[in-house]
Amino acid sequence: LGEPAVEALQPADVRALLPRPGDADHKYTRGVVGVRAGSGTYPGAALLAVAGANTGLVGMVRYVPSTGSGQADDKVADSVRSAHPEVVGEGRVQAWVVGPGGGGDAPRMLGEARADGVPVVVDADALRHVDGPLPGCVLTPHAGELAAMLGVDREEVEAAPLEHAREAARRWDCVVLLKGHHTLVAAPDGRVRVTTTGVPWLATAGAGDVLSGLVGALLAGGLEPYDAASVGSWLHGAAATEAAGGGPLTASRVAVQIPQVIRETFAGL
Ligand code: AMP
Ligand code: MG
Repeated sequence: LGEPAVEALQPADVRALLPRPGDADHKYTRGVVGVRAGSGTYPGAALLAVAGANTGLVGMVRYVPSTGSGQADDKVADSVRSAHPEVVGEGRVQAWVVGPGGGGDAPRMLGEARADGVPVVVDADALRHVDGPLPGCVLTPHAGELAAMLGVDREEVEAAPLEHAREAARRWDCVVLLKGHHTLVAAPDGRVRVTTTGVPWLATAGAGDVLSGLVGALLAGGLEPYDAASVGSWLHGAAATEAAGGGPLTASRVAVQIPQVIRETFAGL
C-alpha cells in the first residue's frame, strides 16, 4: 500500500558499503565501538558481544562492565580482557552496543550510552527499557522481544514480521532489525531489506550477542544505521553458514568466521 518494495542486499552492495582503511587512517579514524553488556548472571554475553565487535572492522573496542554485583562484574571484565587483549576500558566511542546479558543493569547501561549522543545498538535486556524515539539507533529484537515491545503476542509478529518491523521502526524513529530465519531490517521511512544468508543452526545461545557487537562496529566505522544493520546481518548469516558447513554451530565460531567472509566479499567470491 504505497510502501517501498523489500530489497535484498547483494554481495556487491556489501563490498561497496564495508569500511576499508586507507593509507591516511589510524585507529581513531577507523572508529571506536563501546560495549556495555554482560553481568554476573550472564558473563558469556559480554564475551560474545565483544567478539562480534572485535573482528577488526574498527580501530578499537572498548568494554564497560555492568555495576551493582561488585566482584562478579570485575570477574566479567577480567574474562573479557583475557579473551580479547585488544579491548580497552576507557575512551570516546562513535557507537555503543547495549543490552546482551545486562540483566537488571540494562536500564542504567542504556541511559549512560544514550547520554553520549552517539548511535546505540539496543539489544536483549535493554529493549524492555526503550521508552521513546531513538533516532540514529538500531534495535535488534527477535520476534518475542519485538512482540513484548509492541504489546502483542509473539505469534502475531511471526505471522506478519514485515508489518511489525515497519511499525516499530516508525514508532521509535530508528532502524529495527527483526531477527529470524530471514532477518528484516526496517527504516523509519518504510524501506526494508531482507537478509537470507543465515542458516537454522544459528538458532543457538549467544548468536544474537555476536550480531549486536558486529552491527555496533559497523556503526562506529561510519555506516548509516540502515546499512550497518543490513550489512551486519548479511555478514553474520554468511559467517554462520560458512562456519556451520552443513553441521552444528556455536556462537563463538560465528564471530571468528567474520573476517574470512569479509575477505571473500572483497575478493568477489
Ligand atoms: P538471539 O535470539 O538474540 O540469540 O539471536 C538469534 C540469531 O539466530 C539471530 O541472528 C537470528 O536471525 C538467528 N536465527 C534464529 N533462528 C533462526 C533460523 N531458524 N534460521 C536462521 N537463523 C536463525
Ligand atoms: Mg538475544
